[in-house]
Amino acid sequence: MRSLAVVGGGVIGLAVAWRAAEDGWSVTLFDPSVGSGASWVAGGMLAPLSEGWPGEDAVLAFGAASLARWPEFARRIEAGTGRSVFVADATLTVALDAADVADMRTVAEWLRGRGHDLRLLDRAGVRALEPTLTRTARTGLLAPTEPAIDNRVLVGALRQLAEAAGVLVLAESVESLDLLPHDQIVLAAGAHSASLWPDLPVRPVKGEILRLRRRPGATPVPGRVIRARVHGRSVYLVPRADGIVVGATQYEAGFDTAVTVAGVRDLIADAEEVLPGIGEYELAEAAAGSRPGSPDNLPLIGRLSDRVVSATGHGRNGMLAVPLTVDAVLSLLAGATLPDAEAADPQRLSSQLAVRATGQEATARRNHGGPRERRQSSTGGVR
Ligand SMILES: Cc1cc2nc3c(=O)[nH]c(=O)nc-3n(C[C@H](O)[C@H](O)[C@H](O)COP(=O)(O)OP(=O)(O)OC[C@H]3O[C@@H](n4cnc5c(N)ncnc54)[C@H](O)[C@@H]3O)c2cc1C
Repeated sequence: MRSLAVVGGGVIGLAVAWRAAEDGWSVTLFDPSVGSGASWVAGGMLAPLSEGWPGEDAVLAFGAASLARWPEFARRIEAGTGRSVFVADATLTVALDAADVADMRTVAEWLRGRGHDLRLLDRAGVRALEPTLTRTARTGLLAPTEPAIDNRVLVGALRQLAEAAGVLVLAESVESLDLLPHDQIVLAAGAHSASLWPDLPVRPVKGEILRLRRRPGATPVPGRVIRARVHGRSVYLVPRADGIVVGATQYEAGFDTAVTVAGVRDLIADAEEVLPGIGEYELAEAAAGSRPGSPDNLPLIGRLSDRVVSATGHGRNGMLAVPLTVDAVLSLLAGATLPDAEAADPQRLSSQLAVRATGQEATARRNHGGPRERRQSSTGGVR
């Protein structure tokens, strides 16, 4: 039986380990703290359409191909664990001012041209669908096939499935890929992946996010994911069984995962503009995590050497990307490539990255092993 080391136990590493073990690999997963990274913090939207923006065609195509795989992927999870991961089955983006209305129409037109027919709603249509939202919502864009999942349920289910399939989970940090004796290695260490393959262009992108618990008598939780832009900042509300997840800030701040007062203040203020009754909720948790960002918002899924496959760089869309990433990695391990994931091959960034022959991982470490430059903080959009 061929041996596989999976480095990193977020949703990407756990899902790859599970499915590879089912495919007959002898899998060891290394992570000092399984499921503690961005996968634990995330909101759980599966939103390639609502996140889409004219010009980002490759990102849209990758995300849509992964979304199409989610129902079957979730069915397998449910069959193996008895747990459903879905918390909503549609996404509604609302426009609060004239500029947002114009942008919304542009995006809807762009998506329509690519075969994704979203529904534009007027003010009354928005209210009919989600009566607790602000009366200032002028129009809405409904993505009826964009669901959301509970990322924490997903982490638990994937770990359960991986262990049931025979994956050996070791609570160890990998210091160098050279030290691993396995036939193949999948690098899935999220935002930390570049510390193990230093010229891999993955960087941490900080995000703060809130978990609100609905108290008795408080405004009901919306039935769909709600997205909006408030004062130029995007905000989203993702339903949970017991409340709402409100996200998220986005900063270039290195590996800083402190939750700032300003981050919490802005998220609450923006969420309240969209759902006025939210002040009645309990603030249950404020957290921050590091998204594994890539230079062009596509992940980095492909061969780095004869022995190492990269499965990282998923940025804002790592939950969405799990099923396609798993299929792509299994194909690579079988010596093939998956057409839907070819755009994510790290070689598109070849000026920053060199494919190496087996055994050259050590050289790479020595040459490029210094600390990454710390990036200065700058506020940006969302998620
Ligand atoms: C605030 C926020 C909101 C988000 N919302 C969404 C959303 O709504 N939808 C969506 O699709 N995506 C969302 N994301 C993005 C998503 O969470 C990530 O893209 C995804 O979790 C990445 O998964 P991962 O397994 O690659 O990384 P991680 O979950 O970060 O896991 C990496 C793992 O590697 C381990 N590790 C690191 N170094 C080593 C080492 N040397 N040896 C062994 N193990 C190591 C870590 O302990 C960690 O467990 C959000 C992210 C944030 C921060």
